[in-house]
Amino acid sequence: MSHIIGNKCVSVCDTACVPVCPVDCIHGPINIDGAGAEVDKPGFNKEGKQLFIDPETCIDCGACISECPVEAIYEDEEECIEAEENKESVIKNYKFFNQEWKEK
Ligand code: SF4
Repeated sequence: MSHIIGNKCVSVCDTACVPVCPVDCIHGPINIDGAGAEVDKPGFNKEGKQLFIDPETCIDCGACISECPVEAIYEDEEECIEAEENKESVIKNYKFFNQEWKEK
């Protein structure tokens, strides 16, 4: 189980969540090891892009949730699926880190 970044992050990529994470597990939108720095580069196009939480590293502390200005972060897979009425964001979060989400 892991916190999941949902589709409200798409094209927003605020990155306010990144510095509060105690285990540095929020990455992307492009760099799998990065901390969102590419977002601030001149000319970066956020369209269709989002940040992701590494499910293997997230300790479910919840610190990132209140930092997100668009309330894009869900406390687990089930909450995300229920809110978005599909599994797309959950699958995307796992896939970004080359992990496979196994539905319970
Ligand atoms: Fe990081 Fe905690 Fe958010 Fe997981 S819940 S992404 S560990 S801040």
